[in-house]
Amino acid sequence: MNCPHHCEIYKVKPRSYKDLPIRYAEFGTVYRYEQSGELHGLTRVRGFTQDDAHIFCRPDQVKAEFVKVIDLVLFVFKSLGFENYTAQVSLRDPENKAKYIGGDELWDRAEREIQEAADERGLITVAVKGEAAFYGPKLDFMVKDALGRSWQLGTIQVDYQLPQRFELEYVGSDNQKHTPVMIHRAPFGSMERFVAVLIEHCAGNFPLWLAPEQVAVLPISERFNDYGQKVLDTLKNSDIRGFLDDRNEKIGRKIRDAEVGKVPFMLLVGEKEAAENKIAVRKHGEGDKGVMDLNDFVAQFSHEFSLPALP
Ligand code: ZN
Repeated sequence: MNCPHHCEIYKVKPRSYKDLPIRYAEFGTVYRYEQSGELHGLTRVRGFTQDDAHIFCRPDQVKAEFVKVIDLVLFVFKSLGFENYTAQVSLRDPENKAKYIGGDELWDRAEREIQEAADERGLITVAVKGEAAFYGPKLDFMVKDALGRSWQLGTIQVDYQLPQRFELEYVGSDNQKHTPVMIHRAPFGSMERFVAVLIEHCAGNFPLWLAPEQVAVLPISERFNDYGQKVLDTLKNSDIRGFLDDRNEKIGRKIRDAEVGKVPFMLLVGEKEAAENKIAVRKHGEGDKGVMDLNDFVAQFSHEFSLPALP
């Protein structure tokens, strides 16, 4: 895990209450010695990349920071088309407190703050006892893939313990030394597993902004390859990714291949389109969208072609 390293970075110099929150993030490679029989595609591997981040803040900032991280997780899910997720508040097992470090007061407080932050964002949560990390409670996000299997992806954790163990400090407005609170967050969890679940979830139909090829330009005969190339060049100038299918094939075959390839948009060009600087638009899985001016097409879908803006 990367948590101890971020604690050490925090510690390199004295911190004031005015410096907080301090947020560190990295894509860190971590290892887990899974038994060979447990290895499975990209979902269970021995070396993986965590989108790991740690927020050091004052106790009075915990809830606001936590809410921001919830927004980030929801942004990631929305951008990638995960609409069917559940949020689980993972609490400690009250029957077995020895498994966890830290006193009741801080645990109760952390558990309460997580629930309040989740409520503030209107999340529907299930509380599960015994699922907390040994150092603190968590908010875990589960999503379902195309086969209905549930995966834990994003996780956010409030931690009052590690800062104490690493003797982290900041000087408060009262000129006294205080211990900061640490929030661990990983919207993706493991990048490898996230990509695996994403591919399963959308069955290859990536959101438009993420599709490797966003458009296929399909001339209805070789005579219109030049115009097709012009269309493609125009789209590339607007940062739209695509290719020209200039094979000597029937248009029905080209459309079928693009459908099978799950290319979101097929742009057909023939005599009429070339004469009027237009394109005949087909959308994957939806069919004919009619003839459009090339610039209108770019304008109408430009917000879907590019990466969504951060909240
Ligand atoms: Zn951590």
